[in-house]
Amino acid sequence: MSRIIFWLALVFLVIFAVRSKIRAAQKRHQQQFRQPPQAQQPQPAPQPGQTYKARAAAQAANDAEVMLQCAHCGVFYPASETVQANGRDYCSAAHAALPSA
Ligand SMILES: [Zn+2]
Repeated sequence: MSRIIFWLALVFLVIFAVRSKIRAAQKRHQQQFRQPPQAQQPQPAPQPGQTYKARAAAQAANDAEVMLQCAHCGVFYPASETVQANGRDYCSAAHAALPSA
């Protein structure tokens, strides 16, 4: 019986060691490929009760850009590239110049 306990303890120790090694490697990898500070946008301070998942979702929402649909061709494009004509949004100057169907 004591042999089984010994082997179980050994297996758990090995699993724990491997997991901590993997975590350390992931941390190193993240630090290595982190964007330079000037490329990062200012981020809101994390709330004390906020979980990691909620923070990641807030970050993704922060980075996402609003998409608009072209009134001529119907394609979706970033709002920063919009061309407005006659109170409608277009994907390009060419589509804004075309008569709307
Ligand atoms: Zn278009």
